[in-house]
Amino acid sequence: METKIVLIAQEEPREDLLREAGEVLKNGGLVAFPTETVYGLGGDALNKDSARKIYAAKGRPSDNPLIVHISRMEDLTDIVSQVPREALKIAEAFWPGPLTMILPKSDKVPYETTGGLDTVAVRMPSHPIARKLIEYAGGYVAAPSANVSGKPSPTVAKYVVEDMQGRIDMIIDGGEVGIGLESTIIDLTVFPPQILRPGYITPKMLEQVLGRVDEDETMFRADTGQAPKAPGMKYRHYAPKGELTIVQGDAEDVLVYINRQAAADIQCGHKVGVIATEELCREYSADVVKSIGSRHAEEDIARNLYRILREFDEEQVTRIYSEGFAVEGFGQAIMNRLLKAAGHKVINLSEKDSL
Ligand code: AMP
Ligand code: MG
Repeated sequence: METKIVLIAQEEPREDLLREAGEVLKNGGLVAFPTETVYGLGGDALNKDSARKIYAAKGRPSDNPLIVHISRMEDLTDIVSQVPREALKIAEAFWPGPLTMILPKSDKVPYETTGGLDTVAVRMPSHPIARKLIEYAGGYVAAPSANVSGKPSPTVAKYVVEDMQGRIDMIIDGGEVGIGLESTIIDLTVFPPQILRPGYITPKMLEQVLGRVDEDETMFRADTGQAPKAPGMKYRHYAPKGELTIVQGDAEDVLVYINRQAAADIQCGHKVGVIATEELCREYSADVVKSIGSRHAEEDIARNLYRILREFDEEQVTRIYSEGFAVEGFGQAIMNRLLKAAGHKVINLSEKDSL
């Protein structure tokens, strides 16, 4: 399949190209497009064949449901069978934006889109290109991240092209995304509402609107003995080709540990990469050291994470060490993705008696 690649600036959403992309979606085709979180791989959410094509293009297990993207509040009632008051409250506070709600689905939404579930995930993105495209596509666009299943989500179009060229009809290159991590997912079919995936919208922000909010404890721990409530969270994700280890502890201890490990790995013939904060990055010695941003600039860390993991693949790094980050606020989402990328491989130096 020939994939058409088009460039559209956010400030100047080209109506003609977006209309064309909308037609592709209406006709059952697939279009990758930028959102404020990561690039999405869109198909018509109400067309079961489009959903099947999305799973095939990504190599995604078909029990991992898709998020339906809408652009207008009035379209919500068509795809869900019930809109609880909590949904209206958080929509008012955070839509359009990086928040996905789980609600009971209506008959209009095929089971292919929801991975066989009676609930549907819905989000209204804020990115102007995404919003226009959804409108032109008829209102309902199912869109998981536009990467081959298991790889880091694309934050720039280059990686969408790498993964999806030849597999889908069109790719809209709208530059680098703003946030860089996928949306927060909250389940409103239970009480109190439960966060299933952390993101830019933090538990605190949600609690300010909803009162009590629970969190799925599998988001940070691999040892709960339970399956995550969001089916997709059980899969290994975001994984670079090199073996990734997160090292936590006092900054100075982490530095010493990683440098020692890196030297030993290099001796054994490995190519070693380090993900470091700006504050410490000049202190490391390894084959490739990448600054992910200042320890205090969570938004930079989030935006850089997936790109850096992809760059390590390009540079054929075989071992990667990353500093750990604070698990407060938005930092929760960063650590959740990093832990998944590392398959929960963490060295906690403060728990070790001696170095
Ligand atoms: P992605 O679109 O790649 O960011 O992944 C979507 C995430 O939303 C996956 O982790 C899915 O398991 C989750 N998800 C989608 N629909 C539902 C649903 N109805 N119930 C629970 N989780 C869902
Ligand atoms: Mg994904």
